[in-house]
Amino acid sequence: MAPTLVDHAQDDGRGEHFRVRIEGFGVGTWDLDLRTRELEWSEAARAMFGAGWSQTIGYDAFLSLLQPADRARFEQTIQQMPRSGGGFDLSFKVGASSGKGQWIRARAGLIRDESGAPRHISGIFLDVDQEKRVEEALRTQEDHLRSILETVPDAMIVIDSRGIMQLFSSAAERLFGYSKQEAIGRNVSILMPEPDRSRHDGYLERYLETHDPHIIGIGRIVTGKRRDGTTFPMHLSVGQTQQGDEPYFTGFVRDLTEHQQTQARLQELQSELVHVSRLSAMGEMASALAHELNQPLAAISNYMKGSRRLLSGSGDPNASKIESAMDRAAEQALRAGQIIRRLRDFVSRGESEKRVESLSKLIEEAGALGLAGAREQSIQLRFNLDPNADLVLADRVQIQQVLVNLFRNALEAMMQSPRRELIVANTRVGNDMIEVEVSDTGSGFQDDVIPNLFQTFFTTKETGMGVGLSISRSIIEAHGGRMWAESNASGGATFRFTLPAADET
Ligand code: ADP
Repeated sequence: MAPTLVDHAQDDGRGEHFRVRIEGFGVGTWDLDLRTRELEWSEAARAMFGAGWSQTIGYDAFLSLLQPADRARFEQTIQQMPRSGGGFDLSFKVGASSGKGQWIRARAGLIRDESGAPRHISGIFLDVDQEKRVEEALRTQEDHLRSILETVPDAMIVIDSRGIMQLFSSAAERLFGYSKQEAIGRNVSILMPEPDRSRHDGYLERYLETHDPHIIGIGRIVTGKRRDGTTFPMHLSVGQTQQGDEPYFTGFVRDLTEHQQTQARLQELQSELVHVSRLSAMGEMASALAHELNQPLAAISNYMKGSRRLLSGSGDPNASKIESAMDRAAEQALRAGQIIRRLRDFVSRGESEKRVESLSKLIEEAGALGLAGAREQSIQLRFNLDPNADLVLADRVQIQQVLVNLFRNALEAMMQSPRRELIVANTRVGNDMIEVEVSDTGSGFQDDVIPNLFQTFFTTKETGMGVGLSISRSIIEAHGGRMWAESNASGGATFRFTLPAADET
Protein backbone atom coordinates (compact mmCIF):
# COMPACT_ATOMS: atom_id res chain seq x y z
CA MET A 1 0.00 0.00 0.00
CA ALA A 2 1.44 3.36 -0.99
CA PRO A 3 1.99 5.66 1.94
CA THR A 4 -0.41 8.26 0.51
CA LEU A 5 -4.00 7.35 0.94
CA VAL A 6 -6.98 9.40 0.00
CA ASP A 7 -7.15 12.60 2.06
CA HIS A 8 -10.45 12.69 3.91
CA ALA A 9 -10.78 16.36 3.18
CA GLN A 10 -10.88 15.48 -0.52
CA ASP A 11 -12.85 12.29 -0.06
CA ASP A 12 -15.04 11.75 -3.05
CA GLY A 13 -17.47 9.09 -4.18
CA ARG A 14 -14.82 6.88 -5.75
CA GLY A 15 -12.69 6.86 -2.61
CA GLU A 16 -15.65 5.81 -0.53
CA HIS A 17 -16.51 3.15 -3.05
CA PHE A 18 -12.99 1.74 -2.91
CA ARG A 19 -13.08 1.75 0.88
CA VAL A 20 -16.29 -0.24 1.08
CA ARG A 21 -14.83 -2.79 -1.31
CA ILE A 22 -11.67 -3.47 0.65
CA GLU A 23 -13.68 -3.63 3.88
CA GLY A 24 -15.34 -6.67 2.38
CA PHE A 25 -11.94 -8.45 2.31
CA GLY A 26 -11.38 -8.05 6.05
CA VAL A 27 -9.26 -4.94 5.67
CA GLY A 28 -10.14 -2.09 8.02
CA THR A 29 -9.17 1.52 7.33
CA TRP A 30 -8.13 4.18 9.80
CA ASP A 31 -7.21 7.79 9.79
CA LEU A 32 -5.60 9.77 12.56
CA ASP A 33 -6.08 13.54 12.45
CA LEU A 34 -2.86 14.89 13.90
CA ARG A 35 -4.46 18.21 14.78
CA THR A 36 -7.60 17.07 16.59
CA ARG A 37 -5.95 13.80 17.79
CA GLU A 38 -9.02 11.93 16.76
CA LEU A 39 -8.96 8.58 15.03
CA GLU A 40 -11.61 7.67 12.57
CA TRP A 41 -11.94 4.00 11.73
CA SER A 42 -14.08 1.84 9.55
CA GLU A 43 -16.51 -0.79 10.68
CA ALA A 44 -14.17 -3.66 9.81
CA ALA A 45 -11.38 -1.97 11.78
CA ARG A 46 -13.64 -1.51 14.80
CA ALA A 47 -14.72 -5.15 14.64
CA MET A 48 -11.09 -6.25 14.89
CA PHE A 49 -10.72 -4.40 18.20
CA GLY A 50 -13.98 -5.79 19.59
CA ALA A 51 -17.55 -4.65 19.14
CA GLY A 52 -19.19 -1.44 20.29
CA TRP A 53 -16.85 1.34 19.22
CA SER A 54 -18.07 4.55 17.61
CA GLN A 55 -16.75 5.73 14.31
CA THR A 56 -14.40 8.22 15.92
CA ILE A 57 -12.34 7.61 18.97
CA GLY A 58 -9.92 9.82 20.84
CA TYR A 59 -6.30 8.87 20.08
CA ASP A 60 -5.53 8.23 23.77
CA ALA A 61 -8.60 6.07 24.18
CA PHE A 62 -7.45 4.10 21.12
CA LEU A 63 -3.95 3.64 22.55
CA SER A 64 -5.42 2.29 25.78
CA LEU A 65 -6.77 -0.65 23.76
CA LEU A 66 -3.23 -1.82 23.13
CA GLN A 67 -0.97 -3.63 25.53
CA PRO A 68 1.56 -1.37 27.28
CA ALA A 69 4.55 -2.52 25.22
CA ASP A 70 2.64 -2.21 21.92
CA ARG A 71 1.26 1.16 23.01
CA ALA A 72 4.78 2.52 23.45
CA ARG A 73 5.90 1.18 20.05
CA PHE A 74 2.80 2.59 18.34
CA GLU A 75 3.29 5.99 19.95
CA GLN A 76 6.95 6.11 19.09
CA THR A 77 6.44 5.19 15.44
CA ILE A 78 3.64 7.72 15.01
CA GLN A 79 5.81 10.46 16.49
CA GLN A 80 8.74 9.66 14.26
CA MET A 81 6.66 9.68 11.07
CA PRO A 82 6.43 13.43 10.47
CA ARG A 83 10.19 13.68 10.85
CA SER A 84 11.22 10.56 8.97
CA GLY A 85 8.36 10.80 6.48
CA GLY A 86 8.47 7.02 6.28
CA GLY A 87 5.72 4.47 6.33
CA PHE A 88 4.14 2.79 9.30
CA ASP A 89 4.11 -0.98 9.72
CA LEU A 90 3.45 -2.62 13.08
CA SER A 91 1.97 -5.89 14.22
CA PHE A 92 0.41 -6.26 17.64
CA LYS A 93 -2.04 -8.37 19.55
CA VAL A 94 -5.25 -6.99 20.98
CA GLY A 95 -7.60 -8.47 23.54
CA ALA A 96 -4.91 -10.85 24.86
CA SER A 97 -5.88 -10.08 28.47
CA SER A 98 -9.46 -11.12 27.82
CA GLY A 99 -8.47 -14.50 26.49
CA LYS A 100 -7.88 -15.45 22.86
CA GLY A 101 -6.21 -12.32 21.59
CA GLN A 102 -6.06 -11.34 17.94
CA TRP A 103 -3.13 -10.35 15.80
CA ILE A 104 -3.49 -7.15 13.77
CA ARG A 105 -1.06 -5.57 11.37
CA ALA A 106 -1.31 -1.81 10.98
CA ARG A 107 0.14 -0.07 7.90
CA ALA A 108 -0.17 3.61 7.13
CA GLY A 109 1.35 6.62 5.46
CA LEU A 110 1.66 10.27 6.28
CA ILE A 111 -0.51 12.85 4.49
CA ARG A 112 0.52 16.50 4.37
CA ASP A 113 -1.53 19.59 3.56
CA GLU A 114 -0.68 22.00 0.73
CA SER A 115 1.89 23.79 2.89
CA GLY A 116 3.67 20.50 3.50
CA ALA A 117 2.70 20.26 7.18
CA PRO A 118 1.78 16.75 8.38
CA ARG A 119 -1.96 16.48 8.75
CA HIS A 120 -3.10 12.89 8.79
CA ILE A 121 -1.79 9.42 9.24
CA SER A 122 -3.97 7.24 7.19
CA GLY A 123 -3.85 3.50 6.58
CA ILE A 124 -5.27 0.07 7.06
CA PHE A 125 -5.61 -2.63 9.69
CA LEU A 126 -5.18 -6.19 8.49
CA ASP A 127 -6.37 -9.24 10.34
CA VAL A 128 -3.15 -11.34 10.41
CA ASP A 129 -4.29 -13.68 13.11
CA GLN A 130 -3.99 -16.82 11.08
CA GLU A 131 -0.57 -16.02 9.67
CA LYS A 132 0.68 -15.13 13.12
CA ARG A 133 -0.66 -18.32 14.61
CA VAL A 134 0.97 -20.40 11.89
CA GLU A 135 4.15 -18.43 12.45
CA GLU A 136 3.92 -18.99 16.20
CA ALA A 137 3.26 -22.68 15.76
CA LEU A 138 6.23 -22.92 13.42
CA ARG A 139 8.41 -21.06 15.86
CA THR A 140 7.29 -23.32 18.71
CA GLN A 141 8.07 -26.35 16.59
CA GLU A 142 11.41 -24.91 15.70
CA ASP A 143 12.13 -24.22 19.38
CA HIS A 144 11.17 -27.78 20.24
CA LEU A 145 13.40 -29.12 17.52
CA ARG A 146 16.26 -26.91 18.65
CA SER A 147 15.90 -27.98 22.26
CA ILE A 148 15.79 -31.62 21.16
CA LEU A 149 18.89 -31.10 19.09
CA GLU A 150 20.64 -29.53 22.03
CA THR A 151 19.70 -32.19 24.53
CA VAL A 152 19.63 -35.56 22.76
CA PRO A 153 22.69 -37.50 23.91
CA ASP A 154 23.04 -39.00 20.44
CA ALA A 155 24.69 -36.75 17.92
CA MET A 156 22.43 -35.75 15.02
CA ILE A 157 23.62 -34.70 11.60
CA VAL A 158 21.48 -33.85 8.57
CA ILE A 159 23.03 -33.96 5.10
CA ASP A 160 21.65 -33.25 1.65
CA SER A 161 21.90 -35.57 -1.31
CA ARG A 162 25.46 -34.43 -2.05
CA GLY A 163 26.60 -35.20 1.48
CA ILE A 164 26.80 -31.56 2.54
CA MET A 165 26.01 -31.07 6.22
CA GLN A 166 22.94 -28.92 6.85
CA LEU A 167 22.52 -29.41 10.55
CA PHE A 168 24.94 -30.39 13.29
CA SER A 169 23.63 -30.92 16.82
CA SER A 170 25.33 -29.88 20.06
CA ALA A 171 26.10 -33.52 20.88
CA ALA A 172 27.72 -33.81 17.43
CA GLU A 173 29.88 -30.80 18.29
CA ARG A 174 31.02 -32.48 21.50
CA LEU A 175 31.56 -35.85 19.86
CA PHE A 176 33.45 -34.82 16.74
CA GLY A 177 35.10 -31.64 18.01
CA TYR A 178 33.82 -29.43 15.16
CA SER A 179 31.61 -26.41 15.88
CA LYS A 180 28.32 -26.04 14.01
CA GLN A 181 29.79 -23.19 11.97
CA GLU A 182 32.77 -25.30 10.92
CA ALA A 183 30.72 -28.36 10.07
CA ILE A 184 27.67 -26.99 8.29
CA GLY A 185 28.35 -26.56 4.59
CA ARG A 186 31.13 -29.15 4.50
CA ASN A 187 30.99 -32.70 3.26
CA VAL A 188 30.08 -35.22 5.96
CA SER A 189 32.99 -37.40 4.82
CA ILE A 190 35.30 -35.28 7.01
CA LEU A 191 33.80 -37.21 9.95
CA MET A 192 35.08 -40.58 8.70
CA PRO A 193 38.49 -42.13 8.29
CA GLU A 194 39.66 -43.70 5.03
CA PRO A 195 38.50 -45.69 3.09
CA ASP A 196 34.95 -44.45 3.79
CA ARG A 197 36.11 -40.87 3.52
CA SER A 198 36.83 -41.01 -0.20
CA ARG A 199 34.04 -43.47 -0.91
CA HIS A 200 31.15 -41.73 0.81
CA ASP A 201 30.09 -39.60 -2.16
CA GLY A 202 29.97 -42.80 -4.19
CA TYR A 203 27.81 -44.51 -1.54
CA LEU A 204 25.32 -41.65 -1.76
CA GLU A 205 25.25 -41.69 -5.56
CA ARG A 206 24.72 -45.41 -5.63
CA TYR A 207 21.86 -45.18 -3.15
CA LEU A 208 20.16 -42.37 -5.05
CA GLU A 209 20.38 -44.43 -8.23
CA THR A 210 19.46 -47.87 -6.93
CA HIS A 211 17.54 -47.08 -3.70
CA ASP A 212 19.19 -50.16 -2.33
CA PRO A 213 19.87 -49.33 1.33
CA HIS A 214 23.11 -50.45 2.95
CA ILE A 215 22.72 -48.45 6.13
CA ILE A 216 19.44 -46.50 5.88
CA GLY A 217 16.91 -47.99 8.26
CA ILE A 218 19.41 -50.67 9.28
CA GLY A 219 22.00 -49.10 11.52
CA ARG A 220 25.51 -50.33 11.97
CA ILE A 221 28.75 -49.96 13.85
CA VAL A 222 31.28 -47.84 11.99
CA THR A 223 34.33 -45.77 12.82
CA GLY A 224 34.12 -42.02 13.31
CA LYS A 225 36.91 -39.50 13.08
CA ARG A 226 37.24 -36.50 15.34
CA ARG A 227 38.60 -33.11 14.37
CA ASP A 228 41.93 -33.95 16.04
CA GLY A 229 42.28 -37.02 13.80
CA THR A 230 41.56 -39.63 16.49
CA THR A 231 39.00 -42.31 15.67
CA PHE A 232 36.33 -44.01 17.77
CA PRO A 233 33.70 -46.77 17.39
CA MET A 234 30.19 -45.47 16.86
CA HIS A 235 26.74 -46.80 16.10
CA LEU A 236 25.17 -45.03 13.14
CA SER A 237 21.53 -45.15 12.07
CA VAL A 238 20.29 -43.11 9.15
CA GLY A 239 16.80 -41.98 8.18
CA GLN A 240 15.66 -40.34 4.98
CA THR A 241 13.30 -37.38 4.51
CA GLN A 242 12.10 -35.67 1.40
CA GLN A 243 11.70 -31.93 1.06
CA GLY A 244 10.12 -31.18 -2.26
CA ASP A 245 12.22 -33.10 -4.75
CA GLU A 246 15.32 -33.00 -2.61
CA PRO A 247 16.14 -35.98 -0.35
CA TYR A 248 17.81 -35.33 3.01
CA PHE A 249 19.45 -37.86 5.31
CA THR A 250 19.51 -37.68 9.09
CA GLY A 251 22.20 -39.61 10.90
CA PHE A 252 22.06 -40.50 14.59
CA VAL A 253 25.42 -41.30 16.08
CA ARG A 254 26.12 -43.01 19.40
CA ASP A 255 29.62 -43.14 20.79
CA LEU A 256 30.48 -46.72 21.67
CA THR A 257 33.86 -46.07 23.26
CA GLU A 258 32.59 -46.33 26.81
CA HIS A 259 30.30 -49.22 25.98
CA GLN A 260 33.18 -51.17 24.49
CA GLN A 261 35.43 -50.40 27.44
CA THR A 262 32.79 -51.67 29.84
CA GLN A 263 32.33 -54.77 27.74
CA ALA A 264 36.05 -55.41 27.72
CA ARG A 265 36.26 -54.92 31.48
CA LEU A 266 33.34 -57.28 32.06
CA GLN A 267 34.90 -59.84 29.80
CA GLU A 268 38.17 -59.57 31.68
CA LEU A 269 36.40 -60.05 35.02
CA GLN A 270 34.45 -62.93 33.65
CA SER A 271 37.47 -64.78 32.34
CA GLU A 272 39.29 -64.21 35.64
CA LEU A 273 36.30 -65.68 37.44
CA VAL A 274 36.03 -68.62 35.08
CA HIS A 275 39.70 -69.34 35.58
CA VAL A 276 39.47 -69.17 39.35
CA SER A 277 36.28 -71.14 39.55
CA ARG A 278 37.77 -73.84 37.38
CA LEU A 279 40.72 -74.01 39.74
CA SER A 280 38.51 -74.09 42.78
CA ALA A 281 36.20 -76.64 41.24
CA MET A 282 39.24 -78.81 40.66
CA GLY A 283 40.39 -78.27 44.22
CA GLU A 284 36.98 -79.09 45.52
CA MET A 285 36.78 -82.25 43.47
CA ALA A 286 40.28 -83.27 44.44
CA SER A 287 39.49 -82.91 48.11
CA ALA A 288 36.23 -84.79 47.73
CA LEU A 289 38.08 -87.54 45.85
CA ALA A 290 40.81 -87.64 48.45
CA HIS A 291 38.19 -88.03 51.10
CA GLU A 292 36.34 -90.76 49.19
CA LEU A 293 39.49 -92.64 48.16
CA ASN A 294 41.16 -92.49 51.54
CA GLN A 295 39.02 -95.30 52.92
CA PRO A 296 39.54 -97.80 50.09
CA LEU A 297 43.25 -96.96 49.93
CA ALA A 298 43.63 -97.49 53.67
CA ALA A 299 41.71 -100.76 53.34
CA ILE A 300 44.01 -101.90 50.51
CA SER A 301 47.02 -101.11 52.59
CA ASN A 302 45.59 -103.02 55.59
CA TYR A 303 44.73 -106.06 53.51
CA MET A 304 48.25 -106.03 52.14
CA LYS A 305 49.71 -106.02 55.63
CA GLY A 306 47.42 -108.89 56.71
CA SER A 307 48.25 -110.97 53.63
CA ARG A 308 51.95 -110.38 54.14
CA ARG A 309 51.69 -111.65 57.70
CA LEU A 310 49.84 -114.79 56.54
CA LEU A 311 52.38 -115.33 53.82
CA SER A 312 55.38 -115.21 56.19
CA GLY A 313 54.16 -118.47 57.86
CA SER A 314 53.90 -120.42 54.60
CA GLY A 315 56.69 -122.47 53.03
CA ASP A 316 55.99 -121.25 49.50
CA PRO A 317 59.24 -120.98 47.53
CA ASN A 318 58.02 -117.71 45.99
CA ALA A 319 57.06 -116.22 49.34
CA SER A 320 59.82 -113.64 49.46
CA LYS A 321 59.07 -112.46 45.93
CA ILE A 322 55.35 -112.20 46.71
CA GLU A 323 56.17 -110.30 49.94
CA SER A 324 58.22 -107.71 48.18
CA ALA A 325 55.54 -107.32 45.49
CA MET A 326 53.00 -106.76 48.24
CA ASP A 327 55.19 -104.19 49.94
CA ARG A 328 55.42 -102.30 46.72
CA ALA A 329 51.66 -102.49 46.18
CA ALA A 330 51.10 -101.04 49.67
CA GLU A 331 53.61 -98.27 48.92
CA GLN A 332 51.75 -97.43 45.72
CA ALA A 333 48.44 -97.25 47.60
CA LEU A 334 49.99 -94.75 50.00
CA ARG A 335 51.45 -92.85 47.12
CA ALA A 336 48.07 -92.64 45.41
CA GLY A 337 46.68 -91.03 48.59
CA GLN A 338 49.57 -88.58 48.69
CA ILE A 339 49.18 -87.59 45.06
CA ILE A 340 45.56 -86.72 45.60
CA ARG A 341 46.35 -84.78 48.77
CA ARG A 342 49.11 -82.90 47.03
CA LEU A 343 46.85 -82.06 44.12
CA ARG A 344 44.32 -80.69 46.58
CA ASP A 345 46.94 -78.62 48.38
CA PHE A 346 48.30 -77.35 45.13
CA VAL A 347 44.92 -76.18 43.84
CA SER A 348 43.55 -74.83 47.06
CA ARG A 349 46.70 -72.88 47.82
CA GLY A 350 45.79 -70.92 44.68
CA GLU A 351 47.17 -67.42 44.20
CA SER A 352 44.95 -65.97 46.87
CA GLU A 353 45.84 -62.32 47.18
CA LYS A 354 44.20 -60.56 50.08
CA ARG A 355 43.93 -56.80 49.85
CA VAL A 356 41.79 -54.06 51.32
CA GLU A 357 38.74 -54.02 49.07
CA SER A 358 35.53 -52.01 49.01
CA LEU A 359 32.58 -54.35 49.48
CA SER A 360 30.21 -52.07 47.60
CA LYS A 361 32.54 -52.16 44.61
CA LEU A 362 32.91 -55.93 44.79
CA ILE A 363 29.13 -56.30 45.00
CA GLU A 364 28.52 -53.90 42.13
CA GLU A 365 30.96 -55.64 39.83
CA ALA A 366 29.73 -59.08 40.79
CA GLY A 367 26.20 -57.76 40.16
CA ALA A 368 27.16 -56.68 36.65
CA LEU A 369 28.42 -60.18 35.99
CA GLY A 370 25.95 -62.34 37.82
CA LEU A 371 22.79 -60.31 37.39
CA ALA A 372 23.02 -59.56 33.67
CA GLY A 373 19.52 -59.82 32.29
CA ALA A 374 17.95 -59.72 35.76
CA ARG A 375 16.05 -56.55 35.00
CA GLU A 376 14.55 -58.08 31.88
CA GLN A 377 13.28 -60.90 34.06
CA SER A 378 11.60 -58.16 36.12
CA ILE A 379 13.72 -58.87 39.14
CA GLN A 380 14.03 -56.00 41.56
CA LEU A 381 17.47 -55.49 42.95
CA ARG A 382 18.08 -53.74 46.19
CA PHE A 383 21.58 -52.99 47.45
CA ASN A 384 21.20 -51.84 51.06
CA LEU A 385 24.85 -51.05 51.55
CA ASP A 386 26.18 -49.51 54.72
CA PRO A 387 29.21 -47.35 53.90
CA ASN A 388 30.47 -47.82 57.46
CA ALA A 389 30.93 -51.52 56.85
CA ASP A 390 32.58 -51.28 53.46
CA LEU A 391 36.25 -52.18 53.69
CA VAL A 392 37.20 -55.84 53.94
CA LEU A 393 40.43 -57.78 53.67
CA ALA A 394 39.77 -60.11 50.78
CA ASP A 395 40.81 -61.65 47.50
CA ARG A 396 38.70 -59.68 45.04
CA VAL A 397 38.21 -62.38 42.43
CA GLN A 398 37.43 -65.10 44.95
CA ILE A 399 34.81 -63.04 46.80
CA GLN A 400 33.26 -62.03 43.52
CA GLN A 401 33.07 -65.68 42.64
CA VAL A 402 31.16 -66.32 45.88
CA LEU A 403 28.81 -63.42 45.16
CA VAL A 404 28.22 -64.35 41.51
CA ASN A 405 27.39 -67.88 42.58
CA LEU A 406 24.91 -66.65 45.21
CA PHE A 407 23.31 -64.22 42.72
CA ARG A 408 22.95 -66.89 40.04
CA ASN A 409 21.44 -69.37 42.49
CA ALA A 410 19.00 -66.68 43.67
CA LEU A 411 17.94 -65.81 40.10
CA GLU A 412 17.38 -69.48 39.35
CA ALA A 413 15.39 -69.97 42.55
CA MET A 414 13.13 -67.01 41.64
CA MET A 415 12.30 -68.06 38.08
CA GLN A 416 8.85 -69.31 39.03
CA SER A 417 8.10 -66.83 41.83
CA PRO A 418 5.43 -64.17 41.40
CA ARG A 419 7.49 -61.77 43.52
CA ARG A 420 11.14 -61.45 42.52
CA GLU A 421 13.29 -59.41 44.80
CA LEU A 422 16.96 -59.74 45.54
CA ILE A 423 18.44 -57.88 48.48
CA VAL A 424 22.13 -57.52 49.21
CA ALA A 425 23.08 -55.91 52.51
CA ASN A 426 26.10 -55.59 54.76
CA THR A 427 26.46 -55.03 58.50
CA ARG A 428 29.29 -54.90 60.94
CA VAL A 429 29.31 -57.75 63.43
CA GLY A 430 31.45 -57.28 66.47
CA ASN A 431 34.53 -55.16 66.00
CA ASP A 432 36.41 -56.98 63.36
CA MET A 433 33.99 -58.74 61.02
CA ILE A 434 31.55 -57.66 58.34
CA GLU A 435 28.56 -59.77 57.42
CA VAL A 436 27.11 -59.87 53.92
CA GLU A 437 23.55 -60.99 53.37
CA VAL A 438 22.03 -62.13 50.06
CA SER A 439 18.28 -62.73 50.31
CA ASP A 440 15.81 -63.78 47.65
CA THR A 441 12.09 -64.40 47.38
CA GLY A 442 12.57 -67.68 45.55
CA SER A 443 11.45 -71.23 46.21
CA GLY A 444 13.47 -71.52 49.42
CA PHE A 445 14.65 -74.83 50.93
CA GLN A 446 12.91 -78.13 51.47
CA ASP A 447 12.89 -79.18 55.12
CA ASP A 448 15.99 -81.29 55.24
CA VAL A 449 18.36 -79.73 52.73
CA ILE A 450 19.94 -76.92 54.77
CA PRO A 451 22.54 -79.16 56.47
CA ASN A 452 23.58 -80.59 53.07
CA LEU A 453 23.73 -77.42 50.98
CA PHE A 454 27.45 -76.90 51.37
CA GLN A 455 28.46 -80.47 50.67
CA THR A 456 30.38 -81.13 47.48
CA PHE A 457 28.15 -82.47 44.69
CA PHE A 458 24.93 -81.69 46.56
CA THR A 459 22.43 -80.35 44.04
CA THR A 460 18.67 -80.39 43.54
CA LYS A 461 18.99 -79.22 39.94
CA GLU A 462 18.87 -81.45 36.93
CA THR A 463 21.94 -79.88 35.40
CA GLY A 464 23.52 -78.73 38.66
CA MET A 465 27.10 -79.57 39.60
CA GLY A 466 26.63 -78.97 43.28
CA VAL A 467 30.09 -77.51 43.76
CA GLY A 468 29.25 -73.75 43.88
CA LEU A 469 28.31 -73.49 47.52
CA SER A 470 31.01 -75.82 48.77
CA ILE A 471 33.66 -73.81 46.92
CA SER A 472 32.14 -70.63 48.30
CA ARG A 473 32.31 -71.90 51.84
CA SER A 474 35.95 -73.00 51.41
CA ILE A 475 36.81 -69.55 50.07
CA ILE A 476 35.09 -67.79 52.96
CA GLU A 477 36.72 -70.06 55.52
CA ALA A 478 40.13 -69.49 53.93
CA HIS A 479 39.45 -65.79 54.57
CA GLY A 480 38.77 -66.48 58.24
CA GLY A 481 34.99 -66.05 57.89
CA ARG A 482 31.91 -68.24 58.10
CA MET A 483 29.14 -69.00 55.67
CA TRP A 484 25.65 -70.37 56.30
CA ALA A 485 22.11 -70.42 54.95
CA GLU A 486 18.67 -69.91 56.44
CA SER A 487 15.05 -69.59 55.32
CA ASN A 488 13.64 -66.09 55.38
CA ALA A 489 10.22 -64.58 56.14
CA SER A 490 9.17 -64.44 52.48
CA GLY A 491 9.81 -68.18 52.11
CA GLY A 492 12.97 -67.60 50.10
CA ALA A 493 16.62 -68.25 50.90
CA THR A 494 19.05 -66.05 52.79
CA PHE A 495 22.76 -66.72 52.55
CA ARG A 496 25.18 -64.99 54.90
CA PHE A 497 28.92 -64.87 55.09
CA THR A 498 31.44 -62.93 57.10
CA LEU A 499 34.77 -61.40 56.15
CA PRO A 500 37.41 -59.67 58.22
CA ALA A 501 36.91 -55.90 58.32
CA ALA A 502 39.90 -53.96 57.02
CA ASP A 503 39.55 -50.75 58.98
CA GLU A 504 40.08 -49.97 62.66
CA THR A 505 37.01 -49.10 64.72
P1 ADP B 1 24.20 -75.98 41.93
O1 ADP B 1 23.69 -74.60 41.78
O2 ADP B 1 25.04 -76.43 40.79
O3 ADP B 1 23.13 -76.98 42.27
P2 ADP B 1 25.29 -75.02 44.42
O4 ADP B 1 26.33 -75.62 45.32
O5 ADP B 1 25.51 -73.65 44.02
O6 ADP B 1 25.21 -75.96 43.15
O7 ADP B 1 23.90 -75.17 45.12
C1 ADP B 1 23.52 -76.37 45.75
C2 ADP B 1 22.04 -76.45 45.99
O8 ADP B 1 21.65 -75.49 46.97
C3 ADP B 1 21.16 -76.13 44.81
O9 ADP B 1 21.02 -77.25 43.96
C4 ADP B 1 19.86 -75.73 45.47
O10 ADP B 1 19.11 -76.87 45.85
C5 ADP B 1 20.32 -75.10 46.76
N1 ADP B 1 20.28 -73.62 46.66
C6 ADP B 1 21.32 -72.83 46.43
N2 ADP B 1 20.93 -71.52 46.41
C7 ADP B 1 19.60 -71.50 46.60
C8 ADP B 1 18.61 -70.47 46.71
N3 ADP B 1 18.92 -69.19 46.56
N4 ADP B 1 17.33 -70.86 46.93
C9 ADP B 1 17.00 -72.15 47.07
N5 ADP B 1 17.90 -73.17 47.00
C10 ADP B 1 19.19 -72.86 46.77
